[in-house]
Amino acid sequence: IVALRDVHKSFGTFEVLKGIDLTVMKGEVVCIIGPSGSGKSTLIRTINGLTPVTRGSVQVEGQEVHDGNLDKLALRRKVGIVFQQYNLFPHRTVLQNVMMAPLLVLRENRKEVEARARELLAKVQLHGKENAYPAELSGGQQQRVAIARSLCMRPDVMLFDEVTAALDPETVGEVLLTIKQLAADGMTCILVTHEMGFAREISDRVYFTDAGRICESGPPASLFDNPQDPRTQEFLSKVL
Ligand code: ATP
Ligand code: MG
Repeated sequence: IVALRDVHKSFGTFEVLKGIDLTVMKGEVVCIIGPSGSGKSTLIRTINGLTPVTRGSVQVEGQEVHDGNLDKLALRRKVGIVFQQYNLFPHRTVLQNVMMAPLLVLRENRKEVEARARELLAKVQLHGKENAYPAELSGGQQQRVAIARSLCMRPDVMLFDEVTAALDPETVGEVLLTIKQLAADGMTCILVTHEMGFAREISDRVYFTDAGRICESGPPASLFDNPQDPRTQEFLSKVL
C-alpha cells in the first residue's frame, strides 16, 4: 500500500534522507526507531506529501505522491497523520474538531459525518466528551481526539509521529491502547516511536534509521533481541 524507493531529501546542502527503501503492505504495522535527527519525521512526512522529496519515488496505493498531477485532496484523505502536537481548534468542541475536515474539505453530508464522528469518539473512549472544549481535556484525551479527527477522513493508512512524546506518563498508555485497537482492526499503521516496548508488541516489522539511512529492519523479536548492525546494537543498548 506504501512503497518508497531510493528516497533522498536534502535541506539546502544537508542530505537528511540518503536513499530510503520501505514497503508496507495493507494491514501491516511498521515502527521506525532511531536516534534524534536521523530523519524519522522527514521520512514519515514524505508519505503524505508534506515534505517534498529531492529524488526517488514514494507511492501510495500505486500512485506517485510527489507528482505534480497528483490529487492532493485524495492523498490527504487516504493518508492520515497525527503528530506530537495535537493542534486542535481551541474554540471548537471535540465533536466539531472531529467533523471539520470531512465537512469542509470533502464537503460530505453533515448527518453522516456527525454519526461517524460520534462513533469514532466512542471508539477512542471519549464518549460523553463530544461537547467539551480541548482545554477541558487531558493531553491523552486531546491526542485521542486528534486520532479520531484523522480517522474521520476514513484513511487507508495512518502515520503517527511520536504521538505520546509530549504526554504525561499516566496518559501515554491510553493513547497507545487506542493505536493498538486500531492496528487490531486492520488499519495500516506507520509509527515513529520512542516507546520500544510498544514497538516490540505492536509491530509486524521494525526499521532502525541512522543518519538518513535504514541500517536494519526485521520482525521485532529479531531486531530487538538479536540486532546485527553495530549502530542498532549501540542504540538499543542505550534505550532498552
Ligand atoms: P527526532 O527524533 O528528534 O524527532 P528525527 O529523526 O525525526 O528526530 P528529523 O526531524 O527528520 O529527525 O530531522 C532530521 C534532520 O533534518 C535534522 O538534522 C533536522 O535539523 C533537519 N531538518 C528537518 N526539517 C528541516 C527543515 N524544514 N529545514 C532544514 N532542516 C531540517
Ligand atoms: Mg521527529
